[in-house]
Amino acid sequence: MKTLSFLNNNPDSAWNIFIAQVERVLPYLGELESWADTLIRPKRALIVDIPLEMEDGTVRHFEGYRVQHNLSRGPGKGGVRYHPDVTLEEVMALSAWMTIKCAALNLPFGGAKGGIRVDPSELSKKELERLTRRYTSEIGLIIGPQQDIPAPDVGTNAQVMAWMMDTYSMNVGSTTTGVVTGKPIHLGGSLGRVKATGRGVFVTGMAAAKHINLDITGARIGVQGFGNVGSVAAQLFASEGAKVISVQDHSATLYDASGIDIDALIAWQTENGKIKGFPGAADVNPDAFWLYDYDIVIPAALEGQITAQRAEGLSCRLVLEGANGPTVPQADDILRERGIIVLPDVICNAGGVTVSYFEWVQDFSSFYWSEDEIYQKLDKIILNAFDDVWNKSQQLKISLRTAAYAIACERILTARKERGIYP
Ligand code: NAD
Repeated sequence: MKTLSFLNNNPDSAWNIFIAQVERVLPYLGELESWADTLIRPKRALIVDIPLEMEDGTVRHFEGYRVQHNLSRGPGKGGVRYHPDVTLEEVMALSAWMTIKCAALNLPFGGAKGGIRVDPSELSKKELERLTRRYTSEIGLIIGPQQDIPAPDVGTNAQVMAWMMDTYSMNVGSTTTGVVTGKPIHLGGSLGRVKATGRGVFVTGMAAAKHINLDITGARIGVQGFGNVGSVAAQLFASEGAKVISVQDHSATLYDASGIDIDALIAWQTENGKIKGFPGAADVNPDAFWLYDYDIVIPAALEGQITAQRAEGLSCRLVLEGANGPTVPQADDILRERGIIVLPDVICNAGGVTVSYFEWVQDFSSFYWSEDEIYQKLDKIILNAFDDVWNKSQQLKISLRTAAYAIACERILTARKERGIYP
């Protein structure tokens, strides 16, 4: 297997992390290994220029991407990120993780991802809408309910999905709700989607805790990222009696040894857009977050956060990867040697894509399920996937990540092999 020549030499870059993860799974693929090169080459990558007329009449240009990593098992699926650090390479890695995630959960999708290098907080609502509509038109060449279905990610939300759905629908001439997921409920969104990822982190985290006899009542938890994923996971664990002792976001790091009042913090964050200034906990140095004594750490912000150095100092029994790619491969090894279990992103945060799948199915049939039905179906799918991964990891004495990759890659490469090469 060769790595792509145009990429950088930084082993901790997102794409190189993905390559290293694939390399680790090769010994477990048997004869399918001969097809593994397909995983290190995205099927399609589109770079688009987005000219945007600002409120003051000037024009700024933004760079956007949509990458379809692998479509062997179905249409592409994956979010759209608006963040100032977005690069093509990052989007490639995120799209590849979607391929693995959808296969690990056995959802009938391939992997895709999109993004724009922009700080959405600097734009007015009108500018954000125009940016989104132009981006959607540009990537309209390759998205569609049977081709590739975007969803929210960091910096995007249900409103952005509504604009994307409307723009795509205008361009094709008919309302096409199934082109994106994570939409507002009355535009074909699914109940339960907003909390799905955080709920998945909680449900799989509880299952893992049970396997290692970790009592959640009183368990000390640290959460990095207090957005859609982190805040919901924190709330669910707190409701089971866990103590969330530290929370970090881009604005501050909070600490309270007796447990932060998560409902109050959510109310503060909803009003202020960040956790900074919350009166119910001490505002501490950001580095301290990685040094507290925890039972569970939930990285739920960005990738590459658990570096080798942080892994050496981390004190906990379980890492629940709410974010995509938060642990670099070297840190994975260190945590494994230290007996800390890492529940990988491709299982742990798959609740969102699973309910996105439900949304897509409901949009096709125009028949919508209750929240109870959604959670029942979600818990069943995600816990089945968790059990398969846990058992494989025990059976082969490999990490949960390598076990999840082994299961996923076997499905992807079998599909690839059976479809054959065209022409
Ligand atoms: P979000 O935008 O709602 O929240 C992101 C959070 O991360 C915010 O609290 C932000 O302040 C914090 N953050 C940003 N930069 C930070 C930094 N440098 N240090 C500390 N905190 C920082 O995003 P989200 O939807 O909660 O997504 C979080 C992660 O989960 C991402 O990796 C995303 O890809 C992944 N994910 C999200 C979903 C979903 O359904 N939303 C599904 C699967 C995976």
